[in-house]
Amino acid sequence: MEKWPTTPDLASVIPDSVLSSNRLSHIPEIELVFDTDLEKIIDFNLQAPDFFSISREKLLSQTFLDLSPKKVHGQESASLIQIHISDALQGGNPSFSWMLQDSASATIRCNLRMFRFPPYSRQLIKIIITDLTDQRQFETDTVINEERLTLALLATESACFDWQPLIGKAVWDERMHELFDLDPDSEVDRGEHFFQSIHPDDRGRVQQNSTENTDPSNQARTFKEEYRISLNGKMRHILMNGLLFRNEKGEVERGIGTCQDISERKQAEEKLRFQAALLENVSDAVFSTNNEFRITTWNQAAEELYGWRTDEVIGKVLQDLVKPTYPDKSREQVLSEFRKQGSWKGEIITQNKAKEKLHIYASAQVLRDEAGTPIGGIAIHTNITERKQTEIALRDSEEKFSKAFQHNANLMALADFESMTILDVNTAYCKRIGYAREELLNIPGKLGFEGVDPNVRQHIMQVIKTEGRIIDFEALILNKLGEKIHIILFIEPLKIHGRNLHICTCVDITDRKLAEEKFLETQKELINITERYQLSIQSSQVGIWDWDMLTNKFVWDDTMYKLYGLEKEEVEITYETWSSLTHPDDLAEAEAGLKDVLSGKDEIQSEVRIIWPDTSIRNIRTKVILQRDDQGNPIRMIGTNWDITKEKEIEQAKIRAGKLEQKNKELEQFAYLASHDLKEPLRTVISFSSLLKRRYEKALDEDANTYINFIHQAANRMNQLVKGLLDYSRIGRNKQLIPIECANLIQLVLNDLNAQIVETEAQFDITKLPLIQGYGTELRVLFQNMISNAIKFRKPDFPPKIQISAKRKKEHWEFCISDNGIGIDATYLAKIFVIFQRLHTIDEYEGTGIGLAHCQKIVDLHDGKIWVESQLGEGSSFYFTIPD
Ligand code: ADP
Repeated sequence: MEKWPTTPDLASVIPDSVLSSNRLSHIPEIELVFDTDLEKIIDFNLQAPDFFSISREKLLSQTFLDLSPKKVHGQESASLIQIHISDALQGGNPSFSWMLQDSASATIRCNLRMFRFPPYSRQLIKIIITDLTDQRQFETDTVINEERLTLALLATESACFDWQPLIGKAVWDERMHELFDLDPDSEVDRGEHFFQSIHPDDRGRVQQNSTENTDPSNQARTFKEEYRISLNGKMRHILMNGLLFRNEKGEVERGIGTCQDISERKQAEEKLRFQAALLENVSDAVFSTNNEFRITTWNQAAEELYGWRTDEVIGKVLQDLVKPTYPDKSREQVLSEFRKQGSWKGEIITQNKAKEKLHIYASAQVLRDEAGTPIGGIAIHTNITERKQTEIALRDSEEKFSKAFQHNANLMALADFESMTILDVNTAYCKRIGYAREELLNIPGKLGFEGVDPNVRQHIMQVIKTEGRIIDFEALILNKLGEKIHIILFIEPLKIHGRNLHICTCVDITDRKLAEEKFLETQKELINITERYQLSIQSSQVGIWDWDMLTNKFVWDDTMYKLYGLEKEEVEITYETWSSLTHPDDLAEAEAGLKDVLSGKDEIQSEVRIIWPDTSIRNIRTKVILQRDDQGNPIRMIGTNWDITKEKEIEQAKIRAGKLEQKNKELEQFAYLASHDLKEPLRTVISFSSLLKRRYEKALDEDANTYINFIHQAANRMNQLVKGLLDYSRIGRNKQLIPIECANLIQLVLNDLNAQIVETEAQFDITKLPLIQGYGTELRVLFQNMISNAIKFRKPDFPPKIQISAKRKKEHWEFCISDNGIGIDATYLAKIFVIFQRLHTIDEYEGTGIGLAHCQKIVDLHDGKIWVESQLGEGSSFYFTIPD
């Protein structure tokens, strides 16, 4: 050990390499390095294992207390040693008597000296042990110590004194004399001069401490005093350290010590304190530290910021208190910057006494003495926690805003209405409006895009100007493709970085609008349908009835009353009313229908007869539906009634017509069979009567011949009748509709009737006749019968004049064949169309009475009508129609 460090400052200059064992090995004293955090001995010199008769390894695992007895000087060694360690850690360099024990538990009386030991980032103590059991050794040690002392004093520029109070002797070295401004040769009592030199303000304290230290009851082995001396008007700060040696009685025999002029350090500290005092009233925390970062000053604001009082922090290492962390930087980097630049500024995160996190803006400056040597640092800590939190909150809220803006489903834009510029738009905006961001953003004067009607835009600008915002403004805009977009516009003012901007939100309601339009259309359509329905109900004479089954109340609409032949005011409708109006024969069936509905059938339809007040009977058709409540109970029955009397009549007529047709068919069949079967025996009668006449005419008398003639004529006539009947039954058998040119057909008929026409000199007036669809053979028969009758029934001596014409009517052609013949008595106009009906005898006009029956049947076959207009003696006009 080359130096005897007496102050922390001095200790700090000892290089770390001092720890190396070879440097310790030549020191006769036992040295241990003790880590107070680990509570372990971490290093020692070569003498140490021998001293404790212990292996190196074992010694390394020992705590200091392992090497000491439980009690020393009658006190708990653990608490006693702790006091000395604390003293040493604070730079006190304590020296005290102690007891140690070796591995065999043998007690060794020692003197211990403790020093704070580098590196100072750790709590290391060097313990120097002087074995006092051997006086000789002690003396040797003393000599060595004195040598070392001299060396140390030289190195530290300390003055040294040796004071023996019992004999009143004080020996000062040269430096001591210099320090206390005393001639070394002076006879002045050094003790007296010493006390006299002390500043009056400190003297009392120093004297008192000295008295206490030298008191035999006091076991103190060291002393330390800081005071000022005042000599020749000059004041100096002195740090005095010393060892006390006591005799058996405890009296101080000797005090050896050093005095060090610490005025410069004090001045530096004063300067720091002064500078700190200047900043005492500032709102920022200001504090200074020494070179070890131990706090030397701590202003009011620092107390408030961190919560520790000044007296709690002085001497403490700042780092240990506020535990700073540096965003993006390590502590080593910061310290290196600080040392290199002599200052450092930046944000740090610390904690206060309550361990609350603080954001601090720190500004630290290295302080130097006049020679430029760093003496510590001064730091200003500004609390930016609130600002930081606001910043974070702002950043969060900006992020939230940005997300809400960009990902909003509505169309959003940030606009500057002053410069008419769009500053930002969201994705939905670009997508819907169809423009790229570049086409919209940062183009002054071009607010928005072409698709906004200039009048709408002007209106918006006006409202913004007067009211500052727009709420719920519906507008129609066009996107880039010219598609219509219905929007609801909201514009809200927004201040961003001092700029008055507006955030515009467009809610796209196009779909809603279309749906609305569709809805309106549907509604209109519904109204139309309802109107049509009501009209159709009214026009169709459908009556509606409504039976509330819970109240048994019947409601009939006006039509219902009409359908039942009742006056609304005259009758009150109940179930009984209805049943009394229903035909008794149909009531059971009608009620069964209602029961069917009640028992689950959704809808029934039935037909009933009802009896009107005038006893006439009407047919009513009814449809019923049932309404049920949530539990399925029937609550309401609604029905419609309409009159089907006519329908029924038509139905009946159809049935009758069907039956008639069937009968006709059967009759035709019969006529055919009868006429067909009659032909054979008739032919026999005719041929045998002819034979009889031919062969026996001469053999028979006149009467017999007359009879045979009668038989022959009657048989022939019957043959004609049968033939006519057969033809009649054959009409329409092989019918086939074909186009018929009536003029041609008439010509054929006239050709057939040529002999009669020539004979009677009949004249014809034929108008233009149409082309019709008809049955060819049948129509030829029709015209032939008509024309031959017109010739046949002529007035005697009057050549027949016959007109044939056709008139176009709405849905048919009306043909007319009129003559100037004998005419027909009005009584028989209808009769003549009946088969075998004749108005004349054979002698007057030959014929069978079948011709017009044929005509009737042929016209029926064409779904036409046939009739005759005539006056007896005035000619006749036969009409018939042939539909298109
Ligand atoms: P037929 O000619 O064989 O007597 P029709 O059935 O053709 O049988 O006529 C029935 C009756 O209608 C005739 O007997 C006749 O009395 C009357 N009649 C028919 N056509 C005429 C006519 N053009 N003028 C007057 N009477 C007519």
